[in-house]
Amino acid sequence: MKQSIQRTDFDRVMVPNYSPAAYIPVKGSGSRVWDQSGKEYIDFAAGIAVSCVGHAHPHLIQALNDQAQRIWHLSNTLTNEQAIRLAHRLIESTFAEKVFFANSGAEANEAAFKLARRYGIEKHGPEKTEIIAFNNAFHGRTFFTVCVGGQPKYSDGFGPRPGDITHVPYNDIKALEAKMSARTCAVVIEPVQGEGGITPAKADYLKQVRELCDKHKALLVFDEIQTGMGRCGKLFAYQHYGVTPDILTSAKGIGGGFPLGAMLTTAEVAAALAFGTHGSTYGGNPLACAVGNAVLDLVNKPEVLDGIVQRGEFIRKRITALNEKFQLFSEVRGLGLMLGSALSDKYKGKAKDIMKLCEEEGLMVLQAGPDVVRMVPSLIIPQADLEEGLKRFERALERFTK
Ligand SMILES: *Cc1c(COP(=O)(O)O)cnc(C)c1O
Repeated sequence: MKQSIQRTDFDRVMVPNYSPAAYIPVKGSGSRVWDQSGKEYIDFAAGIAVSCVGHAHPHLIQALNDQAQRIWHLSNTLTNEQAIRLAHRLIESTFAEKVFFANSGAEANEAAFKLARRYGIEKHGPEKTEIIAFNNAFHGRTFFTVCVGGQPKYSDGFGPRPGDITHVPYNDIKALEAKMSARTCAVVIEPVQGEGGITPAKADYLKQVRELCDKHKALLVFDEIQTGMGRCGKLFAYQHYGVTPDILTSAKGIGGGFPLGAMLTTAEVAAALAFGTHGSTYGGNPLACAVGNAVLDLVNKPEVLDGIVQRGEFIRKRITALNEKFQLFSEVRGLGLMLGSALSDKYKGKAKDIMKLCEEEGLMVLQAGPDVVRMVPSLIIPQADLEEGLKRFERALERFTK
């Protein structure tokens, strides 16, 4: 018997840690999505910067179907062609020499932080365990990663925390310098803070962070889970800043909507995760890696990466023009197609209200905290959908100001 499913069922059967929108999407194509009632939405959210080539892309469907007919799962006692192929290609396109696959961002970061600790202890001794991270940072929701994250409200109430994690303000090199010591094993940073409010690192800041890491023999870990896979107009944002990390984590866009995460590092650092020291049952699963390969086919091309920069500039110009009319935002910031419109003091805390009005107008956007409206559309969103989405955004802002 087929039962009709309603949003109200969510509250009956699901753990109450989420509060999803009132509608249930049932179909997507490119940057358009339809809900149960047939209402259409333009998608500027992309499943939180995940569906980087839109919904139901034929090349991804083909890759998933082809792999589904061959073999789905093997575990880590066996390897598979798709994982090795994807690792090769990530290595070719980055600083990395070794790859570890996971199923999500948190798991990629968990691997990165465990590796940084192990490397520090093995190479420099048992005291080298301090991880320095940043206020407002977001690194996932496992207990270790959420404690490295810099929003205590996400890690409070779960009992004793993993220790030796220090937080400093972002984009403040003096504050970092003051905390770093021979005990620091890693500095963990998002090149553009995502959940924390779409805050890009200042141009020379990451270079200075790199210098401090070198001085104190600490590893530099870039969390590129949101900024990577083309989101900021280069395959990874570190390539934009010209600063190379020792460890980089990727997830979200890398699977284009299929759960996949990766940790990239050098051969020297990788050696600290010797046989048996870490693992994952699903990580590097052939289905996920087949889709990952298909995503790379589409995204890692100069004309596509340039298109991301152009689309980002287009949105930014249009919102800046809208803002001249409505005077809502103090700043439109971001990099590539990772954009945040920060509400001015008068409207602080109202990002959710704007998001709701957008929803009514048929536009999916996100918040990045209570004060920032976030847009992270498909990296290949067609111009017509961009224009239509921005028209709907204008209507939402018009209603908001009334
Ligand atoms: C989303 C995100 C994560 C967590 O990824 P999950 O797949 O939800 O575990 C970690 N770091 C950053 C920067 C993110 O944006």
